[in-house]
Amino acid sequence: MATLSKSKYTLSCQCQKALWLRSHKPEVATIDASVEARFAAGNEIGDMAKSLFGEYEDTTIYTDGKLDISAMIAKTQALVNSGCPVICEAAFAPKHHYCAVDILCKTDGGWAIYEVKSSTSHVGDAATDPKFAKYATDIAYQRWVLEQCGIRVTGTYLITLCSDYVRHGELELKTTANGCGLFNIIDLSPAVENEYLKVHNQALLALQTMKQTTEPEQALSTHCQNPYKCAFWQYCTQHLPEPSVFNVYGMTFAKKLEHYHAGHITFEDLQSVEDITKNPIRSMQVHCTLNQEGHIHPQGIQAFLDKLSYPLYFLDFESMQPVVPMYDDTKPYMQICFQYSLHYIEHEGGELKHKAFLAQSNGKDPRRELAEALCRDIPCDVCIMAYNDPFEKTRIREMASIYPDLSEHLMNIESHIVDLLVPFRQGCYYLPAMGGSFSIKVVLPALFPDNAELNYHNLSTLVQNGGDAMTIFPKIQDMSPEEATQARQALLDYCHLDTLAMVRIWQELMKKV
Ligand code: SF4
Repeated sequence: MATLSKSKYTLSCQCQKALWLRSHKPEVATIDASVEARFAAGNEIGDMAKSLFGEYEDTTIYTDGKLDISAMIAKTQALVNSGCPVICEAAFAPKHHYCAVDILCKTDGGWAIYEVKSSTSHVGDAATDPKFAKYATDIAYQRWVLEQCGIRVTGTYLITLCSDYVRHGELELKTTANGCGLFNIIDLSPAVENEYLKVHNQALLALQTMKQTTEPEQALSTHCQNPYKCAFWQYCTQHLPEPSVFNVYGMTFAKKLEHYHAGHITFEDLQSVEDITKNPIRSMQVHCTLNQEGHIHPQGIQAFLDKLSYPLYFLDFESMQPVVPMYDDTKPYMQICFQYSLHYIEHEGGELKHKAFLAQSNGKDPRRELAEALCRDIPCDVCIMAYNDPFEKTRIREMASIYPDLSEHLMNIESHIVDLLVPFRQGCYYLPAMGGSFSIKVVLPALFPDNAELNYHNLSTLVQNGGDAMTIFPKIQDMSPEEATQARQALLDYCHLDTLAMVRIWQELMKKV
């Protein structure tokens, strides 16, 4: 009989079909980049948290490149018997079950479980906060498994990153009465107690599901996105037409499900439904898709263009998002800009010019240099366009708050940014190919389907999206000079295309009025 692990147990709490698919058809799962990033962050954080309680023993053992579970279980048992105060990756496997506890600490009369997550919490967050419920399920299963092995569990804790922590100098790991550290430790005992009562029956059901040979029936429901976005969504929705109710703009998932179960699935089904007819953007999306025609509202576009003036700048940042703060004045997951591209036109009919900034990847905080370059390249009181401007505005405000000498100029830039996304989000220009999305990566190919100059796939494969840029920049410092030159050029080309795309979109809007 297959073994139930803690990840399979938590999956069974979300959906029996998902558990069955993971056991019998794992190849139909779709793992997106955000899930992989979450795993990578989890590993990084897990390793750092091991030293939270001082000296520790780690049971992780690899044999022939694979985790050697039997050896880990034996080592754990030996460490428990010897009274080792802190054991990391403590492995236990009663019949049909398995779990490895991130950190197991010896207490008076037993052992405390510490589960490490790369998510964030604030100092003082209540253990009963619903955002912790999914972790209580996981920890309750660990407690149950340990108790099957005769271990007395005296405490159940969650360790998360502390979003109130701001790095100053050396990393502080622990949040104490004296101040914030990188990690928050939350006593989840009350929530775990509730979940613990369900474990026995839930585990039996999960084992039964894994054993069965036929795929379980399961209707789509809110559990497909809660507590986690299910990796089998594409598989379970392969019967749906394209587009379907799940592609409707700006509708909540719960509402989409309501329509789906009411039989409002295709855009034909949806065209007379109130949630569509009473929402101008959705109604435009459905109408344009059914009739395969565009929608242009010249007065709306003109009203947007009237807000612009020369000289006109087009700005785009690239950033990285270190899980662990790398620099002073930064928090976990804070966006750190290391690059910008700037196209600009000085007067009507003027030449399109370009400037760029790309920091050195050398482990130093790139923001001061970037902020200085930005103030040199963009004069005060000029009109600047960004696409989805809250990102650029927030980054500039953050830099203004830590560099008082540049603050006035930076805030002047911030206050003159206009969002090029607005005319699209307002429904002034819509094409069926936009599919209900106004992201620049969707709008651009919809407006210029055959333009090789504006095709991100024609860029170097090193950097074709923001995620690639975010990943490659910190790695440049460890590359050979030749690799580093290629990577820097790929970053420059990518960011250049982002602002060139904005210029072409703006020119397209001008043509329509
Ligand atoms: S998509 Fe929904 S129904 Fe399908 S396996 Fe996932 S949670 Fe279950």
